[in-house]
Amino acid sequence: MVGSEGKSPYEIAVEQFNNAVEYLDIKAGIVDMLRKPKRELTVHFPVKMDDASVKIFTGYRVHHSTARGPTKGGIRYHPGVTLDEVKALAMWMTWKCAVVGIPYGGAKGGVICNPKEMSLHELENLTRRYATEISVIMSPGGDIPAPDVNTNPQIMAWIMDTYSMHKGYTVPAVVTGKPIQVGGSLGRTEATGRGVMFTVREALAHRDMPIEGATVVVQGFGNVGSIGAYLLQDIGCKIVGASDSRGGIYNPRGFDARDVKRFKSETGSVVGYPGTDSVTNEELLELECDVLVPSALEKVITSENADRIKAKIIAEGANGPTTPEADRILTDKGVFVIPDVLANAGGVTVSYFEWVQGLQFFFWSEQDINLRLQDIMVRAFQDVRTISEKKGVDMRIAAYILAIERVTEAVMTRGIYP
Ligand code: NAD
Repeated sequence: MVGSEGKSPYEIAVEQFNNAVEYLDIKAGIVDMLRKPKRELTVHFPVKMDDASVKIFTGYRVHHSTARGPTKGGIRYHPGVTLDEVKALAMWMTWKCAVVGIPYGGAKGGVICNPKEMSLHELENLTRRYATEISVIMSPGGDIPAPDVNTNPQIMAWIMDTYSMHKGYTVPAVVTGKPIQVGGSLGRTEATGRGVMFTVREALAHRDMPIEGATVVVQGFGNVGSIGAYLLQDIGCKIVGASDSRGGIYNPRGFDARDVKRFKSETGSVVGYPGTDSVTNEELLELECDVLVPSALEKVITSENADRIKAKIIAEGANGPTTPEADRILTDKGVFVIPDVLANAGGVTVSYFEWVQGLQFFFWSEQDINLRLQDIMVRAFQDVRTISEKKGVDMRIAAYILAIERVTEAVMTRGIYP
């Protein structure tokens, strides 16, 4: 493969960072420091399986930067997890937290496993042992995990319980994305999708495009994609395409995103939803629409397909869905890309609210949470847009400029120890 499509997620993350650094006046040593994660932990650990066998799993936890505060980032369970991918995701978390101005650095974790082939009991064993292994660098004041692909509130509850058992008292603030009954925050489940909705709303206004009837295609109908879809539908958009790992559906007249979510939870897939045509995931990305919301995995918009994408706005619900080559093609075509570090920052923002509530044992109303989230997302969108216009750069470079400036300021103000 040519160009960035042959590069790893971490190489892409570094390339995106380098593209923005060109516009900044930062000491070479600090640039070098920000290119690399601060810590990378690899753990190999045994798990008791249901058939009484013991299986060894490999997991990672990476802290990219602690300059602006404790590290924050999700945990992914997937057969394709690599240290390289976790490093990229940790770096993206640093920029994301800085873009929305919350006091965290970036982290990420992952375990190489296929949760779809594991029983609930095996998943609990794996989670509790992985939590124990990473607890050497995980704590409410140091590093706070959250859900990501194939991890959910139940898994967060097991992590919280495991850490609390070791401490001897309950520590809700060690992890976010927990169920409400054990210290989770109202609005957390919907937060990433809600943040996507706020940024799409701002982008439509910025582009003088009406919200009412704006057509939307969503790739990946999980937490981010499905909730993003129905919240966009609630403000007047028309959802015309959706997909998951098994394939996609399309109806140019639109369909009810909530009902598709129900259908997927009953049947396991969006495919076969009545009244829609089946499309492949490749075709889905190239459908006629105003807004495309990639919400599955990395590197789906590449130099191969970028030219055929018809959306006017792309809101990156997923982390890293667009390669740098594709970015250049999209910018040349005039597509307005809301980068991942901005578009999907709603999740970490409400995770921050959950952490604050957990530290204080004082819980806020859902209305408070959604209003505060809206304030932060709209301000971040406008901050990035202003930089984009002032410097004549796309929204991704603008977001990186804002983030790198904030992180560098923290590094310089704290000083280099000793
Ligand atoms: P999820 O597991 O809930 O959903 C992922 C969805 O993508 C599923 O519907 C799955 O079937 C689908 N999918 C997988 N492979 C696919 C493929 N090849 N083509 C099309 N669809 C495919 O995960 P999620 O939490 O919604 O995360 C999705 C993305 O959003 C990830 O990149 C994640 O890092 C990012 N993200 C998530 C959050 C969050 O709060 N959950 C926050 C920020 C960013």
